[in-house]
This record gives sequence, C-alpha cells and structure tokens, in this order.
Amino acid sequence: MPIIRDAEIEQLLRDYAQPVLRAAGLAKQNVRVVVLSDRSFNAFVMDGRHIFINAGALFDAKTPNEVIGVFAHETGHLAGGHLQRLREQLASAQTASIIALLAGIGAAVAGSRSGAGGADIGAAAIMAPQSAIMRSMLAYVRTQEDQADHAGVKFLNATGQSPRGMVELFKRLSNESLFNSRYIDPYMQTHPMPADRVAALETVARASPYWDRKDSSELQLRHDMMRAKLSGFLERPDTVARRYPANDHSLPARYARAISTYRHADLRQAIAQIDALVQTEPNNPYFYELKGQALLEGGHASEAVAPLRRAVQLSHSNPLIEILLAQALNATNNPKLAEEAVALLRAAIIREPEAPDAYSQLAVAYGRKGDLANADLASAQAAFSRGDIKTARQLAARAKTRLPIGSPAWVRADDIVNVKPPNANASSH
Ligand SMILES: [Zn+2]
Repeated sequence: MPIIRDAEIEQLLRDYAQPVLRAAGLAKQNVRVVVLSDRSFNAFVMDGRHIFINAGALFDAKTPNEVIGVFAHETGHLAGGHLQRLREQLASAQTASIIALLAGIGAAVAGSRSGAGGADIGAAAIMAPQSAIMRSMLAYVRTQEDQADHAGVKFLNATGQSPRGMVELFKRLSNESLFNSRYIDPYMQTHPMPADRVAALETVARASPYWDRKDSSELQLRHDMMRAKLSGFLERPDTVARRYPANDHSLPARYARAISTYRHADLRQAIAQIDALVQTEPNNPYFYELKGQALLEGGHASEAVAPLRRAVQLSHSNPLIEILLAQALNATNNPKLAEEAVALLRAAIIREPEAPDAYSQLAVAYGRKGDLANADLASAQAAFSRGDIKTARQLAARAKTRLPIGSPAWVRADDIVNVKPPNANASSH
C-alpha cells in the first residue's frame, strides 16, 4: 500500500485525532494516523496502533469536523477492542465463504488492499448471505458499527466538538451508494451503513450540546490547504486548473497551482509562485519546504539548502523536513556539509525510524565524511528496512570489521548480523 508521508498533513491529522484519542483513554497507545495514496473514500483500523485514511477521504471531507468525525468513529472501534474480537472470529471461522465475508465487510483487508477484485468479493458476500452463521456475523459487525458510532459521539462531546460532520458525511456516503450500486465504496464495505443506522446515529448526535459548533476559521484554512496540496500533488494539471482556476486568489488555490506548476511545468515559474506564498505567510514552514523540494528535484541542490534550513527551523525540527534537508546537503556534493547531514539524519531517525530513505541518505553522508564503517552500518540498516536481510547481514558484517569492538555502532551491526532470515524461525518476532 503506497503511503503518503507529508509533514504538514501529518501534523494536521495529529491535531484532529489527538483530542479524540485522549478522550477515549488511548493517549498513551501512540496511535498513528497513516495516509494511503488512494482516491477512493476509506478509513479503517487494523492493528490497534494505526488509523488508516485514504487521501480520497481527506479530499472528499469538506470540513475538519468531518474528518474528526471519521476519526471519532474509528477510535470507537479501537476503544471497543473490535479488531481483536473480529480476528478471533476470523480464526474460528470454518468455511471459505465466511472468510470471504469477513474479508469484505469486517477486517477491511481485502477491499482496501486489492481494489476492484477485493470489492467484488465483499459485494458478493453481502448480497448472498447463505446461512444463519453469516447472518449472525452481519449482526455482529452491525453491532460494532453502532457501538463505534455511539462511542464516537461520546468522544466528540467530551472534547466539545460537534458530531454533525460525522452524521452528514455518513448520510452523504449512504445516499451516494443508493444511486451508484455498481460501485461500492470501500468505506461502505468495511462500515455497512444501512439507513436505520444513520438515523440512530443522527438521533444521538442531535442531542449533543455541541451540534451547532463550527470549526475555527484557522482550522478550516489548514484543512483547505491540505486538500489543495493533495490536489496539486495527486491530480492532473488540467484537473487542478479546473478546481482552482486562475481567478481564485485564495491561499489554497495559489498553493495548489504552485505545486502543480512545479510538478508538471516550469521550475522558475513555480518558484515565483512559491515566493509569493512565502511573502503572504513568511512564517509558514511548509512554503519553504515546498520551495526547497522543488529546487532539489529540479537539480538545484545548493539553492534548496537555505529554504530547507528555514523550514526545519520554523517547523521546530520536523524529522521529515530534516531528512529532506539532509538529502539536499548530500546532493550538493560538498564534503563540508556532510557533518550537518549526519547530525540531522541521526536526530530524525530517532523520531522516524521507518522514514523512507533516511538510512540510505545517512550512508551517503558518512561516505562523504570518509567514515566507511558507519557508512556500511547505515547501508546495512537501509537494506534491513527494505526487507533485504541478506544484503543487510553482509554489510553489517563488513561494518563490524571496521568498528571498535563493543561500541554502540558495533553492537547494532552485530544485531543485524544475527538476525534470522525470514521463515527460518517463524516465531522469532
Ligand atoms: Zn466502523
């Protein structure tokens, strides 16, 4: 599943999710929101540690409150321990058809992973329930949905937020599915939404003292900037131009057009558009980040360094931006900048151990410094994080010969050398 990593979007989604997770008593669980690069509307939980949401859902949600409502519902599933129980049901399921049913409507695995094929399985299973056990499974899933709705409203009330976005979004989704029966939204599969469920939710939600409370204008602007960014990066230039026509001078429209220009048209023109954004909001770290990214990808690494340093500073050292700055420093081919890149990457990796490319950039930076032992270790860690255990062990073994025995780096290399290859011992993790 391709994942979108973006400092600005992740910060916004953390700000959406955190109050709700706290109200659910899950603040300490370190639940992370993961954005999937998929245009369809979907959000789901799988393992108790992550809430997955499609870029399409972020794009379709018109207000922060709608996304917060989706998170409140998903948090209801997490708090209710629904996944765990659904897994146990899956483990005890006897027939292939029950597994297909659960894959389609319960665990969200098949439908979300495999596009149309998975969707067909889910739809067929929903339309052809053949036995009492299937009906009881459906009732079970339905009960979980009702529980998640009620828990979601409770969390929203506890945080003084309106449940209206959740109700309106669910209404919109269930209406769309009526008129579009050939295409079943993944979200509808994983969260079956019959009219009476939405009606029951609406009754509870309308009783909330916060029903009429609106998102702040600042939060709405951040939401609109996120949607503009997704459009600029993911949509074709003509679609972006239609959605954000040149006579729209709002900040989100200018943002979407600047991104689209850098992705698909002229770099200098894009830089002029981004500079105009910086002039409007001189303390917005993400405008400097965008400028640095555009320059770096356009082959102007040295020019990218200054705006990226500013972005790191204004974002209070966001690790994803630190990694981008280190990448620019490496790309300058200037050995004098290697030390700064090493320091940035080592700091970023502590907070973002799974960030793509961080270890391979670290290997480059150590190589520039002439520190071949640590370059080997970082290359070993890069190979390890892509799942190439064989290469990881070879590089780690070479790193060990160059590192002081018993030093922290030697111990890390030794750990990799001693990792069991996959399938050698199924219970090793
Ligand atoms: Zn649900």
